[in-house]
Amino acid sequence: MLDDLYKYNGDDAMAYDPNNIFARILRKELPCVKIYEDEDVLSFLDIMPQVEGHSLVIPKEAACDILDLSSASASRLIVATQRIARAIKSALKPPGIMVMQLNGAAAGQTVPHIHFHVLPRHEGIDMKLHARQMVDPKVLEPIAARIRAAL
Ligand code: AMP
Repeated sequence: MLDDLYKYNGDDAMAYDPNNIFARILRKELPCVKIYEDEDVLSFLDIMPQVEGHSLVIPKEAACDILDLSSASASRLIVATQRIARAIKSALKPPGIMVMQLNGAAAGQTVPHIHFHVLPRHEGIDMKLHARQMVDPKVLEPIAARIRAAL
């Protein structure tokens, strides 16, 4: 009912591309540095981290952005995002945590499969530019292990 009410039919609605990079990670065609997975969501470290511990949480439902995600999947996604944020807080002890979610290229979205960013923040440490500098997954694995251990 609510899904019908809020269904996004705007002219600029994106058609879901089943070959976007996160869809390929979900199908295990591409690797990721995994933190958590269940039947609804997957969480992994961002390969171009803006801060140490920059994590992503994605639903398994095929949806470009928050406008076309089902309410049921949105609920499970935010609960999973909270769980990852709590694990990051416990494992990495940041004084602040930023949760970020971008919709549409004009908002800076670069991967057209909805996701939440979870960014540990420390005063005096600026965020690097968005989706710019790739790091070696080997550098990310020990960070993921610490977050996994706190789940
Ligand atoms: P957005 O711009 O909000 O769509 O965010 C997409 C994020 O995905 C960016 O922060 C990228 O650094 C990140 N990203 C792109 N490709 C990968 C990948 N293969 N593994 C992990 N993160 C990725």
